Amino acid sequence: MSQVFYRSPKTSYPVAVRGDGVYLYDEKGKAYLDASGGAAVSCLGHQHPYVIDAIKSQLDQLSFAHTAFFTNAPQEALAERLSARFPEKNSRVYFLSGGSEANETAIKLARQFWVAGGKPDKYLIISREQSYHGNTLGALSLSGNPQRRKVYQPMLFDWPRIEPCYAYRHQFSTETEQDYGERAANYLQQEIDRVGAENVAAFIAEPVVGATLGVVPAAKGYFERIREICNKNNILLILDEVMCGAGRTGHYFAFEADNIVPDIVTLAKGLGGGYQPIGAVICRDHIHNQIVDGSGSFAHGHTYIGHATACAAGLAVMDVIEAEHLLQKVKTSGEVIRTDLAAAFGEHPFIGDIRGRGLFIGIELVQDKADKTPHANGGKVATSIKQRAMSEGLICYPGSGGADGINGCHILLAPPFIYTSSHID
Ligand code: PLP
Repeated sequence: MSQVFYRSPKTSYPVAVRGDGVYLYDEKGKAYLDASGGAAVSCLGHQHPYVIDAIKSQLDQLSFAHTAFFTNAPQEALAERLSARFPEKNSRVYFLSGGSEANETAIKLARQFWVAGGKPDKYLIISREQSYHGNTLGALSLSGNPQRRKVYQPMLFDWPRIEPCYAYRHQFSTETEQDYGERAANYLQQEIDRVGAENVAAFIAEPVVGATLGVVPAAKGYFERIREICNKNNILLILDEVMCGAGRTGHYFAFEADNIVPDIVTLAKGLGGGYQPIGAVICRDHIHNQIVDGSGSFAHGHTYIGHATACAAGLAVMDVIEAEHLLQKVKTSGEVIRTDLAAAFGEHPFIGDIRGRGLFIGIELVQDKADKTPHANGGKVATSIKQRAMSEGLICYPGSGGADGINGCHILLAPPFIYTSSHID
């Protein structure tokens, strides 16, 4: 009997023993084509030699030095590289071990920014329905996914939430995409009016919603209007790019396609590509400065922030993305996959929508294509597809927004950026 407390205790998992490029192998030697990078993590596939070498040489030199005592070269270098990619100069980068920690950090940063700025009433974070920002209690409080919240509901803070921007389900046939985008964004203004702008610290959203809706980019104009509303009401805009960031959509930051700049952005999964656990919060200069000029320090911290080996892995992943011009490849491969999927399954009676950006692709499954009826038991349907795919040697990521009728189930594809046309076929 295993002593492991498994993620899903009733599931029996094959033992992964080896990775090689876009394949994982189990102990019986069976190969699995990785079409989802786990959950949009393994952006360079497995065992990339450059990244493995970078980690090994970092371990030979310095694996860890607590950041209460030291900084370290990989942390400095990775912060510089991320800051250079962020559209505003002098942004600051705070490193964590994953996505939930990054979002916890982002909301505390927003809160402390306002306290330091003499506005201590500002503490509310507005988020969206059907969202997922992490499993720790703070990040789960922000998340509007009913299934993930259910057991913990009494322990969660109920932040105000607005409807997500989800054209497939919410755009009226009489509206243009732009009209819909603006209407969906205006719900934020309504919510701010309801709770009072003087109480609101920030709005948080994923630019492309991953695991809860199944890869839903916002409609045109949505984020531009959101940015205007945040500015007008003196509210910070936090973008959760834990899943959609770090090149996954063909831009390094997904928000680049939306023509806006957030105040704070969070990254994780693809930042370290699964080679090391790492997340990051990037904030504009003035947020950092207001806190430093206020109390002098950020009232936060974890043992593994700025971990040297994790940052070395992140740096190596970024080197490869840049040296191999992978962002362009992500855009073109993504278009090919979406076109091929549409040709193969576009008319399928149980496939409602095929969508996405770059190598971040969602396939929404419905009971009835004509009226978009979601599966009553979406989670089970998606999981059974995952299991069947695995038995055929393919890894794809199942998801469901819950049995509340708002959305059904979907399959998420997030292949490594190094896919060739034969892998796509
Ligand atoms: N935010 C988003 C958008 C995510 O998709 C996830 C994980 O799936 C998280 C946050 C939480 O990240 P982690 O699992 O690394 O804590």
